[in-house]
Amino acid sequence: MKAAADHRVWRNWAGTATAAPARWCRPGNQAEIAAAVRDAAASGLTVRALGSGHSFTAVAATSGAALDLSAWTGITAADTRTGLVTVRSGTTLRALNAELSGLGLAMANLGDIDVQTLAGALSTGTHGTGARLGGLATQIEALELVLADGSVAACSATSRPELFAAARVGLGALGVISTVTLRCVPAFTLLADERPMPVDEVLEQFDALAGGNDHFEFYWFPYGRNALVKRNNRVPGAAAAGSVPPPLPAWRRFWEYEVMENAGFGALCRLGRARPRLIPGLNKFSSSALSARTYTETSHRVFVTPRRVRFTESEYAVPRESLGHVVAELRRAVPRLADPVMFPVEIRVAAADDIWLSTAYGRESAYIAIHQYTGLPYQDYFDRFEAIVAEVAGRPHWGKMHSLDAARLTALYPRFEDFRRVRAEADPEGRFGNAYLTRVLGD
Ligand SMILES: Cc1cc2nc3c(=O)[nH]c(=O)nc-3n(C[C@H](O)[C@H](O)[C@H](O)COP(=O)(O)OP(=O)(O)OC[C@H]3O[C@@H](n4cnc5c(N)ncnc54)[C@H](O)[C@@H]3O)c2cc1C
Repeated sequence: MKAAADHRVWRNWAGTATAAPARWCRPGNQAEIAAAVRDAAASGLTVRALGSGHSFTAVAATSGAALDLSAWTGITAADTRTGLVTVRSGTTLRALNAELSGLGLAMANLGDIDVQTLAGALSTGTHGTGARLGGLATQIEALELVLADGSVAACSATSRPELFAAARVGLGALGVISTVTLRCVPAFTLLADERPMPVDEVLEQFDALAGGNDHFEFYWFPYGRNALVKRNNRVPGAAAAGSVPPPLPAWRRFWEYEVMENAGFGALCRLGRARPRLIPGLNKFSSSALSARTYTETSHRVFVTPRRVRFTESEYAVPRESLGHVVAELRRAVPRLADPVMFPVEIRVAAADDIWLSTAYGRESAYIAIHQYTGLPYQDYFDRFEAIVAEVAGRPHWGKMHSLDAARLTALYPRFEDFRRVRAEADPEGRFGNAYLTRVLGD
């Protein structure tokens, strides 16, 4: 194993967190992960596993030993009959989707991008959208973790169930996840329907849209009246060719995703950053330029889009019935901000689950994600948003900007104390701690 005392600085994708780990390790097998944890303990260092650095918070940051798991990847076992697939934790979602596709399998739901590592995405409660579906962690069947003493613990709903309930969305606080067994589904095709709709109509029909589609979400530019509504529905395997729209041709995919949504939108953002006065107008322009598209594609090619324009983001889960209130308040708040907002708001939904620190624990949830273009001021906007979602017991995404601490979070999570107890049992010395965990979980 390469264990290097180099002085590389770690930096996340959004540039909102940096760290200078005392040690970098790149284990290539489970024994090397365990050795890295033991060696760090012997040197009095804390340990953080690194994902792809796509959290906006400093959840992955460490001044101790940083474990780069990019040499610990791939599927180790797959049963195509049951859909159970065991995956090494450093595998990116992109690589996983490709491997699953080769097996005729797929993840039942995914978020917007696929560059995260599997363990990184799971550990912060990454989710996609779908009123009948939970976040990615609800697809976990079993986990293996390297604990603080270097031992390996296997857990599932029937074996060490409390560790399992905590570690599925564990913030990296319980140990280093070495493998994840996922319950996958047979590969499926989605019919994607994306079209502009007045945001007032979307809100009026919200329950029907959320409940009537497998995957429903909308984007709304906060100065505009239009939303872009995305409805993705499973196409029955037997659907005859010709009865559903074809995939987007490669040129159109390139034009719409790369040119319009990345290069074109990036250019508008740069203009807005140089001339903030223009932002509300640019925002209205982006909103009015929304157009419809309908196509069918393999599921992961519909869920995932390239995101090359950098931004900062905050996202909260609120009880589904509170969405209208939050959007109405945001609509009132945004025009009053001193610094205009360049990016759209994204609304998604998820089913209730039973994972202790899942943002959808015990309640049907709506997710509201707000963004600001990189380099533009965002603090007032995010503070105002936080005050609005606080009125409806909003829970922050663990990987996105928020200011909540353990005292506030205890009140939001019925099993928060259980999580802290299981953590204290699994990691009594706080080997896997960092400053972010001290804030959100307490000492
Ligand atoms: C452009 C963009 C789009 C996004 N889209 C979505 C979305 O659609 N839905 C959504 O919910 N979120 C989304 N996110 C947030 C993102 O999914 C999460 O922040 C996720 O945690 C990032 O994964 P990562 O691999 O980069 O992990 P990192 O950010 O590097 O790490 C996250 C946490 O996982 C821990 N960790 C990593 N590996 C292990 C391991 N083996 N064992 C234990 N702990 C480990 C780290 O220590 C850290 O605590 C998006 C982020 C960006 C930048």
